[in-house]
Amino acid sequence: MVTNKKDIRALTKEQLRDFFVKQGDKAFRGNQVYEWLWQKAAHTFDDMTNISKETRKMLEDNFVINHIEVDNMQRSNDGTIKNAVRLHDGLIVESVLIPTPTRTTACVSSQVGCSLDCKFCATARLKRMRNLNPDEIYDQVVAIDNESRHYHNRPLSNIVFMGMGEPLMNYNNVLKAIDKITSPEGLGMSSKRITLSTSGVPKMIKKMADDGVKFNLAVSLHSAIEEVRTSIMPFNETFPLDDLREALEYWYAKTKRKISYEYVVWNGINDTQKDIDALVKFCKYVPCKVNIIEYNPIDDGEYQQASSEALEQYIKTLEQHRIVVNVRRSRGKDIDAACGQLANKS
Ligand code: SAH
Repeated sequence: MVTNKKDIRALTKEQLRDFFVKQGDKAFRGNQVYEWLWQKAAHTFDDMTNISKETRKMLEDNFVINHIEVDNMQRSNDGTIKNAVRLHDGLIVESVLIPTPTRTTACVSSQVGCSLDCKFCATARLKRMRNLNPDEIYDQVVAIDNESRHYHNRPLSNIVFMGMGEPLMNYNNVLKAIDKITSPEGLGMSSKRITLSTSGVPKMIKKMADDGVKFNLAVSLHSAIEEVRTSIMPFNETFPLDDLREALEYWYAKTKRKISYEYVVWNGINDTQKDIDALVKFCKYVPCKVNIIEYNPIDDGEYQQASSEALEQYIKTLEQHRIVVNVRRSRGKDIDAACGQLANKS
């Protein structure tokens, strides 16, 4: 339901404290409500049991809590869970829980749809409808943390911004959400366990470095050859590889944190020695590691995972150059929960 009441979670703690003072109450009441809203992730004012009935009614008259609803939860036979999440205005995004023997990772969305146009990604086919608010990002994490505790008997351990959307095109809200996720007044998670994945917006990578963020950075590279990258990720024309390189050098100089490159190898697109050599060269600019991701087909087969020989050749050459390389098997394919498959299909 859409109302004109203000979303209470758009208020800072200070604003909430001021609000109570203006109501003739104590500023401390603001702290209590703030704790309910974030740390305890209350869905309704009535959940706030240490707040008087009158105060809860007053809050109800002035505000809404625009919490998300998990509309549909699907469980894969490999333990992966995909949530279709309904936002207060009825739009849907998806988030994924990925369990491994040692960790549980939440893959969360930052936008409804995506404004970028990567040819191989299902989300790119959805129009970008809007940015997610900080609380909508936070709520996805809370929902997955609850599911992790329920189905896997352990709390969430890691978060990746690799769901729908380009996080650096919703920078302020993503940062606010991460602040809440890492704050002791929120979920108290370590920023070392959070990774923001971007297709590479140079200006924003520099801004993040300037802002002194403490989380990890992954860049969806997929090709280190200009024409090839532009053909599969057309926005590369606006943000060419030289600019990306410069921004990454800036990031490393400021943060001293290694970058991860996400890389899919496709048949006939980036599977030659020339492609590998270009990647090796790119990897020399800034300390990094390479994550080779398995391709998750999204449609008519225009893009196909390269042969295992081509992958082996990538791995061999990278290792010869002492570049750390991991191969990521995809998870949750049977429920369309794998990288690049999030498209609100069910
Ligand atoms: N916009 C951000 C985050 C979302 S995409 C980014 O580009 O990084 C998350 C990761 O999935 C990216 O590395 C992306 O390149 C990759 N990806 C997209 N479609 C894919 C597909 N069909 N198969 C495998 N990986 C895919």
